[in-house]
Amino acid sequence: MSSIPATASTLAGALLRQEVLDLHAYHVPDSVGYIKLDAMENPYLIPPELRDEIAAMVANAAINRYPDPNPAALKEKICSVIDLPQGMTVLLGNGSDELIQLLALALNKPGATLLSVEPSFVMYRMIAVFTGMRYVGVPLLLHAGKANYGEADFSLDLPATLAAIKREQPALVFLAYPNNPTGNLFSAQDVKQIIAASPGLVVVDEAYYAFASDSFIPHLAHFPNLLVMRTFSKLGMAGLRLGFLAGSTAWLGQLEKLRLPYNVGVLTQLVAEKLLEHHEVLLQQAEQIKSDRAKLHIQLSEVTGMQVYTSEANFLLFRVANAADVFSGLKRRGVLIKNLDGGHPMLKNCLRVTVGTREENEKFITALKETIIQNAQG
Ligand code: PMP
Repeated sequence: MSSIPATASTLAGALLRQEVLDLHAYHVPDSVGYIKLDAMENPYLIPPELRDEIAAMVANAAINRYPDPNPAALKEKICSVIDLPQGMTVLLGNGSDELIQLLALALNKPGATLLSVEPSFVMYRMIAVFTGMRYVGVPLLLHAGKANYGEADFSLDLPATLAAIKREQPALVFLAYPNNPTGNLFSAQDVKQIIAASPGLVVVDEAYYAFASDSFIPHLAHFPNLLVMRTFSKLGMAGLRLGFLAGSTAWLGQLEKLRLPYNVGVLTQLVAEKLLEHHEVLLQQAEQIKSDRAKLHIQLSEVTGMQVYTSEANFLLFRVANAADVFSGLKRRGVLIKNLDGGHPMLKNCLRVTVGTREENEKFITALKETIIQNAQG
């Protein structure tokens, strides 16, 4: 009897987990040639005064060797720049995405739940699916209870979140502080209540800490179920891939066992440590971005029909009629931002723009005005 020869695609279809077959890969658009304001990157390169030194370090780096699996000097540098309380430590990740995955792997007992709010960082849900965890997303609040998404202010719905925690008993909770893609900082009081009411581990994700007015690092010692996660991606090092978890050694000592030994490369260790010796220069860039964010907020608000949301991150979320057309019009004019329309019902007609250099921001505003005028003319 002849059997049909197996092709790679039939085999993959038969062998892979259904969740994987059902997934859509995280889409990263081609950005070559665009003014790139879609991914919350810092627009500034290595500060000029450090370029020669870093070039020499990279040229002489021992890339023939595996990286240091426990880069103590880099970890100490991180602890000192973030003012980590005594008795706390850090665990390094190849970007914080990797740490979300590590946490999910570690806490995924059979039937365990990962809880977050929505809309928020899509990786929380995606990684729950990757690792086979149950996912629960609690909707953020619509302003004053109006059933009109135009009034959404994206604050935490504390009663609904506490009720979901009681009902679902999540092993792992992620709260982005400030939140992505909305940019707002949740009420610290609400977040504290959520941590206190959670039977599981709560991770406060401070990816945008450099642009925000508050942090949970000082509260680490008060909550035995709290870890703070940060990344250097928004501080000019997105290409290096370096994030970390901060918290007690009781947690991080256990989680270290799941970290792949060489997850942070030689060049990342070298360059990040050098840049962190000049943390103040990076923070100055962040200050510049914050003041440009304020200017961009005003300019955007002045465009007719625009609703701009308050942001403590390095991007602004705004709502505009026919957002998909506005997005395409900007792209035709060489400016790439993020179209969130269709991603979540609360983000209907929403676009997100990263704060770039002053020149990039000006070009974005000009292109936006031209697009809106042209679209109005039909
Ligand atoms: N957390 C949040 C809230 C983010 O927005 C991002 C990046 N967009 C990350 C984590 C991941 O950052 P990275 O992997 O670059 O460290």
